[in-house]
Amino acid sequence: MALESHNMKHQLHFLLVPYLCPGHLIPMVDIARLLVNHGAFVTFVTTPLNVKRIKPLIDTVNASKLRIRLIQFEIPVLEFGLPEGCESLELVPSRALIRSFMFALSKLQTPIEELIEATPISCILVDKFNYWMENVAKKFQIPRLIFDGTSCMNLLLLHNLFKSKVYENVQESKPIVVPNLPHRIELTKSQLPLELNPEAKDLRDLDEKIRTSQESAYGYVINSFEELELDYVKEYKKVKGNKVWCIGPVSLSYNNNETQHVGQRGNKSKVDLDSCLKFLDSWPPKSVVYVCLGSLNNLALAQFQELALALESCNFPFIWVMKEDDLLDSEFEERTKERGLIIHGWAPQVLLLSHNAIGVFLTHCGWNSTLEAICAGLPMITWPMFADQFFNEKLIVQILCIGEELGNEIAIPLGKQENYGASIKREKIVEAIEKVIGDGAKKEERRESVRKLAELAKKSMEVGGSSYLNMKMLLDHMETLTFGKPSTQ
Ligand code: UDP
Repeated sequence: MALESHNMKHQLHFLLVPYLCPGHLIPMVDIARLLVNHGAFVTFVTTPLNVKRIKPLIDTVNASKLRIRLIQFEIPVLEFGLPEGCESLELVPSRALIRSFMFALSKLQTPIEELIEATPISCILVDKFNYWMENVAKKFQIPRLIFDGTSCMNLLLLHNLFKSKVYENVQESKPIVVPNLPHRIELTKSQLPLELNPEAKDLRDLDEKIRTSQESAYGYVINSFEELELDYVKEYKKVKGNKVWCIGPVSLSYNNNETQHVGQRGNKSKVDLDSCLKFLDSWPPKSVVYVCLGSLNNLALAQFQELALALESCNFPFIWVMKEDDLLDSEFEERTKERGLIIHGWAPQVLLLSHNAIGVFLTHCGWNSTLEAICAGLPMITWPMFADQFFNEKLIVQILCIGEELGNEIAIPLGKQENYGASIKREKIVEAIEKVIGDGAKKEERRESVRKLAELAKKSMEVGGSSYLNMKMLLDHMETLTFGKPSTQ
């Protein structure tokens, strides 16, 4: 696309460099959509496999606006001992190869530098995991904003933990109170995110690079809305000298006549949408359990079977999204076919969550899934596994009171699941489902709380809402930085 044909004078040009995994790539695409809707140009850099995943959605924007330039560069996966096509974290075959994946990805630095030499860029928006972009921003003296794919609460917790070091010299099962927070948040050392988790020491040097490159960034773009976590937004702004812009939930960047586009978000769906909707239409409102543990998790076999037994014995209808190669007991699908729909592979999650028949989302508390549940007004059953997910569980269950926890006690780093067996028992899962969509005492209260949050989320993205205004402020700020004053448009 010939961006040069537009008048580039006083037109902000963002370079977006996402991390390569669905939970980070998807919201970056949504942010690209938001930026162009607010009048900026976007150059979006990723690899061939990811281009395939997101191009249909980008094409729908460009059909009307011609403002997102999608650029693909290869990464040398074979050179780093990775299988061909291994261009997304969930495809990395073992934990030992995550390091190689990160290094292969860092080879994007040279082509990105060549790209910037040919096209003037006003601002870089980069995922926190692409720490090597710090060098690029410095070399060309371009302001670098970080997208971390998480909440202000998580960023503040991490900041306070890291500064206070309260987790040092503490037994792994002993609760730690995170200091200087608006609420009393207790976690055990074994529930801490990877950067601080004793089970994930093998990537500590990379964590350190990521952390220091974040410190020197110009500011933060957050997929959250202020009304959701106001106290944490205020505190985190203090930490970052105000350069924090909450512009989400970005999954709400689609309007009502874009249902088809929402169905294409992130990847090509592995299920026929009509048959899914037919299944959901056949159930009463708020009766179906939607189970999806994110794009990265692979449950230990014993845990996977325990979840299957729970869904079989709970008597509620369910949709269970599992990995393409997950193997179920061959008779399970047969025994539950009257009330169970299994999706092997990618599901159009946001679209399904918006159906009135879904009553609860059993989630791993990934930040995108958490926000998507809130936007759909759905209470959650929380099963955090690693990274920020235990913090998100605190927000869902303790602060917002919109979820029921399964009580997972240990963060299991990616690729180590098989070591942990079935720590969450089927009775616990059935009990939680009963509480949320059966006869639970707090059922209505919980539902009302999340319904109100869904309204606030929607308002925040509408013209004049907090996230809408934050996006405008971000662009004004960047225009002043780039051109000396904001444009009047
Ligand atoms: N997702 C989806 N279909 C799937 C699995 C995941 O659309 O079958 C999307 C989901 O809607 C969310 C993202 O993938 O936007 C997952 O991000 P999240 O932060 O929830 O978890 P992660 O996968 O990064 O652990």
